[in-house]
Amino acid sequence: MRSHYCGHLNETHIDEEVTLCGWVHKRRDHGGVIFLDLRDREGVAQVVIDPDTEEAFALADSVRGEYVLQIKGLVRYRPEGTLNKDMPTGKVEVLGKELVLLNASETPPFQMDDHQKVGEETRLKYRFLDIRRPEMLNKLVFRSKVTSAIRSFLDADGFLDVETPILTRATPEGARDYIVPSRTHQGSFFALPQSPQLFKQLLMVSGVDRYYQIAKCFRDEDLRADRQPEFTQIDIETSFMSEEQIMEVAERMIRGLFKEMLDVELPEFPRMPYSEAMSRFGSDKPDLRIALELQDVDDLMKGVESKIFSGPANDPKGRVAALKLPQGTKLSRKDIDNYTKYVGIYGAKGLAYIKVNDRAAGKEGLQSPILKFIPDDVVEAIMDRVGAETGDLVFFGSDKANVVSESLGALRVKLGEDLGLIKGDWAPLWVVDFPMFEETDHGWTSIHHPFTLPSCSAEELVSNPGAALSRAYDMVLNGTELGGGSLRIYKPELQKAVFKALNIGDEEAQEKFGFLLDALKYGCPPHGGLAFGLDRIVMLMTGSSSIRDVIAFPKTQTAACVMTAAPSEVEPKQLREVGIRVRKPEEDKK
Ligand code: ASP
Repeated sequence: MRSHYCGHLNETHIDEEVTLCGWVHKRRDHGGVIFLDLRDREGVAQVVIDPDTEEAFALADSVRGEYVLQIKGLVRYRPEGTLNKDMPTGKVEVLGKELVLLNASETPPFQMDDHQKVGEETRLKYRFLDIRRPEMLNKLVFRSKVTSAIRSFLDADGFLDVETPILTRATPEGARDYIVPSRTHQGSFFALPQSPQLFKQLLMVSGVDRYYQIAKCFRDEDLRADRQPEFTQIDIETSFMSEEQIMEVAERMIRGLFKEMLDVELPEFPRMPYSEAMSRFGSDKPDLRIALELQDVDDLMKGVESKIFSGPANDPKGRVAALKLPQGTKLSRKDIDNYTKYVGIYGAKGLAYIKVNDRAAGKEGLQSPILKFIPDDVVEAIMDRVGAETGDLVFFGSDKANVVSESLGALRVKLGEDLGLIKGDWAPLWVVDFPMFEETDHGWTSIHHPFTLPSCSAEELVSNPGAALSRAYDMVLNGTELGGGSLRIYKPELQKAVFKALNIGDEEAQEKFGFLLDALKYGCPPHGGLAFGLDRIVMLMTGSSSIRDVIAFPKTQTAACVMTAAPSEVEPKQLREVGIRVRKPEEDKK
């Protein structure tokens, strides 16, 4: 139906007859001449319709925003003085000769320009219109180029694209499963994959050697900022490669992608052990663009009288840390109150601080409600350790180690953002040497997943699970985890030892992962891999503020689709077929 995209027209098409198809972006009546801005995926072209082309003029006069038209006409230069430098097609226009109304449109719930102010709920309800907006369409174009670049890279490196099942068994990645009832096996359920983890490992047993897949993953997680119940991973697995080699391929892929898409040369990717990341930045995905760092002061606080500090300082699971904000005395009381509320989100019960009004004046030059609880020599030692200078402000966290790390880690980033302390555009790194497990109320759980290869022997692992490190690596960029993976366990005995450490008994292990344990018996090669979060990568690269903006049809924060009204109830017949009776929440309470 069309000869050219609207957005492609330029001077090379002067005097050409063209046929455009698209939506009426804007219509203006200028003293007897009608201007139509016609929009398609590639951009907008200006069409002029003179009254002497009567039929076309009459139709142009009647169209409204978002009507769908086919327009035949002649490309010409715009008259002197009417060029539009901001528009890629701004030097030319089309003298419209024939118009065909392909379809009318009701008045849309919002304008199709980039700066509409409508709420996200409305945008999601009318997502098909939201995506018409050039900003959104451009993101989808960008995303498509990213996946195409990744496929080309991996294909050229000898990776095979293999699809793995969506209807499967639980694949533990630490979230709840989405489950699907089976009609042919009533009372039994499939789980949607939290990742293709076990299948990609089985493909290594099969000899596929290098696998990738742009894979949908499903995780039923509690409401957390900017997560989606279904999201896309660039999933990779290799055989006979060391972690160095795997990291090298992954790094080359990401570097190449940034170069190709953004013409950005990413800097070095330093390696940082997990313990260092936690101690210096309070996070396993530190944003290295922010120069602020945490400093441990447990040793100094051990002997102070106040239990607020000495308690956690003497508790092996506690932590007392300081965070110096240079020139922080300019923060107002209200700012500090707001930051205190902010760290409360991360479980901190308060936010102690010392203002350094005059460092040379010793304790007299300091200002803080906590000074009376801390002996002078300890205060002095703390000031020395953090390198405090006049004008600085020192925050403190004192609690369970994870609360201190998370709250001060988050505060560090918030201060960086609020006070303009973010330096440089891109700061990547690898975080390595993760612990195998973390302790929760239900015992040990895997930090990554139970198939991660430990750095120690099976015996050491079982005797001291808390000390075991893993052969895992995460790629972090600007405080966001882009991806992560590990070498995997490839011997059944070691896999059984990990299950044991996780308190998964033999019977349960056999029931849930028997197929994996079987596969490991038949010549499983040493293997490892990683997975990248595609949505997150595209979000960062396009400077979007949410992953929802780079997903065509995302779910809301309550894991629902407002456009299709999913999830929804189903017919009783459908439930009967799968042998399910729904209990209303009221019945549960009885
Ligand atoms: N399956 C892991 C994940 O989804 C990635 C990996 O270990 O390859 O996080």
